[in-house]
Amino acid sequence: MTNINKADLIQLFEFPRKRILQSMEVTHCPHAVFFNHSDEQCVTCHQGEECLWINHNDEMVAMEKKSIEDLKQQLLVAVDFVDSSLSPHHLSRRNCECENCSWLRQVQQALKGN
Ligand SMILES: [Zn+2]
Repeated sequence: MTNINKADLIQLFEFPRKRILQSMEVTHCPHAVFFNHSDEQCVTCHQGEECLWINHNDEMVAMEKKSIEDLKQQLLVAVDFVDSSLSPHHLSRRNCECENCSWLRQVQQALKGN
């Protein structure tokens, strides 16, 4: 198929993991960001999507056991989170050097398989 390196994909999870956790109101979460499928509060939580991602891609999770396809899928979800949190200022600057934009470029490169 492609020559995408799993280790390259895995290291790209570090930035969104940190970033999503920062953007979440962790102090208001009674479960310390451990998603509980049977808990009504979790299911209806406005941070549910981010929380699920974090729980799915936590450092404790054995990332190297996931398939390339799964990793790619999860990275794309993270791209959406980061992308939607950026102001148009970033998106209009093709060579923005902030950590968000450079991470987005790294992901694009990695997914292309270079
Ligand atoms: Zn930027």
